[in-house]
Amino acid sequence: MKRIVVLLTAVLAASPARAQSKLNVVTTTEDLASIAREVGGDRITVEAIAKGYQDPHFVEAKPSFILKLQKADVLVVVGRELEIGWLPPLIQQSRNSKIQPGSEGYLDASLKAQILEVPTTQVTRAMGDVHPLGNPHYWLDPENGKSIGREIAAKLEQFRPNERSYFEQQLTDFTARLDAAEKRWLAQTAPFKGMKVVTYHRSFPNFAERFGLDIIGYVEPKPGIPPSPQHTLDLINEMKRQNVKLVLVEPYFDLKTPNAIGRDTGAQVLVMPPSVGGVKEVTDYFKLFDYDINLLVEAIKKTGAK
Ligand SMILES: [Zn+2]
Repeated sequence: MKRIVVLLTAVLAASPARAQSKLNVVTTTEDLASIAREVGGDRITVEAIAKGYQDPHFVEAKPSFILKLQKADVLVVVGRELEIGWLPPLIQQSRNSKIQPGSEGYLDASLKAQILEVPTTQVTRAMGDVHPLGNPHYWLDPENGKSIGREIAAKLEQFRPNERSYFEQQLTDFTARLDAAEKRWLAQTAPFKGMKVVTYHRSFPNFAERFGLDIIGYVEPKPGIPPSPQHTLDLINEMKRQNVKLVLVEPYFDLKTPNAIGRDTGAQVLVMPPSVGGVKEVTDYFKLFDYDINLLVEAIKKTGAK
C-alpha cells in the first residue's frame, strides 16, 4: 500500500506540467530527428516523417504524416528541395500555421551547412535532375551535423528562451562527442585516402570529401534518372580503365544494375545507408558513420587494392 502511494505521488509530481511544456519537434528525416534528440534532450519530443530506408526524394505521403504535422511546434527540413516532391502538400493540409514555410516554427537545416555541387548553370527538375539547388545530402559530413545541431539549438532557444542554458549545454556536449568520433573516423579512413568508388545516386559527396573517397561515377546517369544501358556501359568501361573496385548503393535502389556492373568489373557492391534507420543497426547519427565507415574499411581490406 505504501509503495503504491509513493508511486502515485511520483507520477503526479512528474507528469502534466513537464509533459505539456515539451516542444513537439517533427523532422522530415531520421537524421535530423537524431540530431534534434541530441540537442533537445528531455525538453522536446521528436518524430521523423520519412524512414531512413526510404528514398528521401520520393516518399509516399500518408495521412498519418498530416497528423504529425498538425501537432508540431517546430518542423525541421533538410531543404535544398530534397523534400519538394512530397512535403509541401502535407504542410499545407496540416493547416498548422506555426510550421508553414517562412513561419517561426519552420527550420531549413541547410542554411548554414556546406552545400556541394551547387549548379553554375540553370538546372530544372523537369530535366529529371533532383538536385537543382546543390546536393541536399549534406548531413553525411559530421561538420555539417554540427551546423545542423547549432541551427536546431537556436530554434529551440527562440521558442524556450528560459531553457537556453540547457540547450546550449546539450549542444556543447553533442559537438564534443561528435568531434571525438570524427577524429576516430578520420583515423580509420586515412589509410584509404583517394580510394576510387562509384555510387548509385549522388548521396555521398560530402561524405567522400570529408573521408577522402574519390567518386568517379554514378549508376544513375543524372540524379533521379534510372540507369540506362548506354550509361551503364560507359560506366563499366571507365571503372575498368581506372580500376574501380567498389560500388556503393543506397538501400532503396534495385541491385540489378549494380550487381551486373560488379560482375563485369570485379567490383564489390556494398549496400551503404545514407541515413539513420537505413539499416536496423543504425539507430542514431553516430552509428550512421560507424556503420558506413566499418563497411568501407572491411570491404577495402578485402579488395586489397587502392
Ligand atoms: Zn539526391
